[in-house]
Amino acid sequence: MAESGTLHDAFIDELRDAYDGEKQLTKALTKLAKAAHSPQLRDAFETHLEETQGQIERLEQVFKSLDEKVRGKHCEGLAGIIEEGKSIMEEDFDDDTMDACLIAAGQRAEHYEMGAYGTLVAWARAMGHTEAADILQETLDEEKAADEKLSSLAEGGINQRAADTAHPEDADEDEEVASVAASTSKRAASRTRTARR
Ligand code: ZN
Ligand code: FE
Ligand code: FE
Repeated sequence: MAESGTLHDAFIDELRDAYDGEKQLTKALTKLAKAAHSPQLRDAFETHLEETQGQIERLEQVFKSLDEKVRGKHCEGLAGIIEEGKSIMEEDFDDDTMDACLIAAGQRAEHYEMGAYGTLVAWARAMGHTEAADILQETLDEEKAADEKLSSLAEGGINQRAADTAHPEDADEDEEVASVAASTSKRAASRTRTARR
């Protein structure tokens, strides 16, 4: 029987997966940037594209620190997420809705990467690959920041504008909506108090 693989083998495999994933994402981010209507959203995708190129270089450093050849291995997970993003881009949505959908696609990719890098950092630390862990942590932080940037753009206007286009009657009644929201939260607060009793 062949000898069993170790966590170190699994780690190298995941590094190759991440390397291929970043390469797929450089193409995907280019398309997302082109499809964005909001200039701030386009900027965010372009900035993260540049960061992604740096992340590819970081992975090359990590391979080097482990005396491993730089190699990618097809990342099926991101390929699927990117495929879904592409089909959304083919839809005929109003501008804000399309931007909201591009953010949704981008955040799915960032969350996938956060999961991957979170594991890589933890495994590297557990095995004492401190240099690799530190480099991978930098990328993990960048992915988290990219995700937060997309959330702030969505919540900073894009979602609401898309929602107002979907339901223009509600958009005209801003004050009413605000007062309904206030009484709803009062009701929710009293429900919480009741539940605690
Ligand atoms: Zn190891
Ligand atoms: Fe990345
Ligand atoms: Fe990313």
